[in-house]
Amino acid sequence: MIIILYLDNSATTPILPEVRDKMVIYLNEEFGNPSGKYYDLAITAKKAIEDARFNLASLTRAKQQEIIFTSGATESNNTVLKGVADYYSNQGKHIVTSKAEHPSVIDVCKFLENKGYEVTYLDVDCFGRVNPEDVKQAISKNTILISISWGNNELGSLNDIKTISNYCLEKGVKFHTDATQVAGKIDINLDEYRGISFLSCSAHKMHGPKGVGALFVRSDEYGNLLQFTPLLHGGGQENELRSGTYSVHNIVGFGEAARIALENLQTNFTRLTELEEKTKKLLKNKFNQRIVFNSDNYNKIPGILNVRFKGVNNQILLKKLAPVIAASSGSACSSTNPSHVLQAIGLSLKEVRESVRFSFSPYIDIEDLDILKEL
Ligand code: PMP
Repeated sequence: MIIILYLDNSATTPILPEVRDKMVIYLNEEFGNPSGKYYDLAITAKKAIEDARFNLASLTRAKQQEIIFTSGATESNNTVLKGVADYYSNQGKHIVTSKAEHPSVIDVCKFLENKGYEVTYLDVDCFGRVNPEDVKQAISKNTILISISWGNNELGSLNDIKTISNYCLEKGVKFHTDATQVAGKIDINLDEYRGISFLSCSAHKMHGPKGVGALFVRSDEYGNLLQFTPLLHGGGQENELRSGTYSVHNIVGFGEAARIALENLQTNFTRLTELEEKTKKLLKNKFNQRIVFNSDNYNKIPGILNVRFKGVNNQILLKKLAPVIAASSGSACSSTNPSHVLQAIGLSLKEVRESVRFSFSPYIDIEDLDILKEL
């Protein structure tokens, strides 16, 4: 299938050729298991994992031992929520999150509610942001974890992670942030966010492979990682925190994608801003009063633009566009399962069903956007 313009980069991004080329080496000749000992194949594979860990640590200014490789952000989120809930259940059973989180957070919270935990789902503003004061107010002596995403995957809005993490630090509550949509797109310096205990991210949102992610776990001054119950038990990889044979080629690809993202952070940011601005201008010229931008103009990651086409069903529109433009109505939702994020920001069901998300990659040629004039 030939896709002329791919504008669903928040769902996944195409893999960069440099990333793929590096991965292929570990699918072919360097096939060793990094947990093996003494022989070269194992040593080379182990070194590749540690190089990738270095790149992920550099991307977030974390320490290398604070990075744990997982199968993706879904696993990272599940690991934190279930692992913290289990490990600290004798200290309390209360978790705070928001109504605009990704399903890999919200659905785990629902699962935990069924296991006897209490979850507060905070309201969000009209752009999907949590009010940090609400987080502070929600914390009680039973609160064991706060989980608030850094950037919203449907709207692009950024939460005030600095203030929220500071409140969590003050109150001594562990704080997890799902940074899947922002890692590799904005500068993340975990040294400046001491209140962040855990952070999730994923390779395939930054031009890396699918099926690999990372979890940052804060260590103390002695180098001890915050404790939690592992999701996967077995061979004891990743400091006993995530068992399973390493997916070496995927981890190598993730490391390379993270290195390239960090190297190009500023230029990519500028590029994504230009792409978003041009798209807004083209759509405004074409549709004028018939569209509304659900995304904010400020305080967001560039590259995610949520637009409401008044009176047009999004599924019909997306289907019609599909031969020329690939976009989506948000997360993996359909017309029968309308976006919980857009409902949380106050849109009616009809308005939700008129909304489309366009998401960009810095590797898009800006001239290619002219096709939007033909809509
Ligand atoms: N969190 C957010 C905010 C996401 O956008 C996604 C991907 N849609 C995930 C978590 C899940 O990531 P993965 O595909 O790596 O499991």
